[in-house]
Amino acid sequence: MTQSQKTPKAALIILVILCLSQAPRLPKAGETIHGHKFFIGFGGKGANQCIQAARLGVQTAMICKVGKDFFGNNYIQNFKDNEVLTGKKEEFCVTCQTAGENAIVIVAGANMLLGKEELQKALPAIRRAKVLLCQLEINPQTSLLALQMAREHKVKTIFNPAPAISDLDLNFYTCSDVFCCNESEAELLTGCSVADVEDAHRAAQELRKRGCSAVIITLGSQGCVVLKAQESKSIHVPATAVTAVDTTGAGDSFIGALAFYMADQPSMPLEEMARRANQVAGVSVQAVGTQTSFPSKQNLPAELF
Ligand code: ADP
Repeated sequence: MTQSQKTPKAALIILVILCLSQAPRLPKAGETIHGHKFFIGFGGKGANQCIQAARLGVQTAMICKVGKDFFGNNYIQNFKDNEVLTGKKEEFCVTCQTAGENAIVIVAGANMLLGKEELQKALPAIRRAKVLLCQLEINPQTSLLALQMAREHKVKTIFNPAPAISDLDLNFYTCSDVFCCNESEAELLTGCSVADVEDAHRAAQELRKRGCSAVIITLGSQGCVVLKAQESKSIHVPATAVTAVDTTGAGDSFIGALAFYMADQPSMPLEEMARRANQVAGVSVQAVGTQTSFPSKQNLPAELF
């Protein structure tokens, strides 16, 4: 399907390139060890979410900064390959992850330079969008401003507070139509343990008290808990039992799918969107990798569309 055949639009934010090497253990300070595998992957929560939404058949756009270098060029090509709209690229992007015991260093590089000026340039895209989705891998003030701009133009917002920060500005809640996080983010934000479905019901109530319209807390193999706007009780939406081989990026697959349904079928009940997003993410965990495991429309049952 070409971009012009896809009608609904979702604008999404952020990017990161991952340089990943696998080694038997973490090197000590000053030590050099052999890794057995090195690969470059495309990531950043926003980019993952954006690509998942695009693969389900919605037109998506990224608002981000990349470098005028090898990484930036490849990064943009990856978006193009996935039919994501991209604008002019600027600045540099150096982002690195090292893996051993999964220790991760993120240098957000060019994306931290994304600010008010760039958002103003992206305003036409934001205004045309049905849904704007933000995370916290860019400067939080930039994410907040993007959410505020979307709200001003009656664009639905999803906020994914990841990576989570404990003292999150309350304005993030009031600017979120759907506040969507996982268990550990919910735990950090509420200060209460979120270890099971019952805890998630309580955490969702606490998060909504802070001013968002609806809350979704994802719970891995247990699916998610959905607290809809103006409803007093949250609903547990179980995931389908699958044999998971790699759950990396499952949350991004879920949120990308959620953005797709909000843009494509805005009148669908939120719990039904969550049920379908569970199914999309459930497919992603059955394959290795992040974006490489995200399913496309043609690989999913027709009933999900
Ligand atoms: P994150 O990747 O942010 O930690 P979760 O682990 O909560 O997010 O997973 C997000 C979604 O992916 C879940 O709500 C569920 O739909 C799906 N999922 C994750 N792990 C599994 C699993 N083992 N079996 C089935 N679905 C899963």
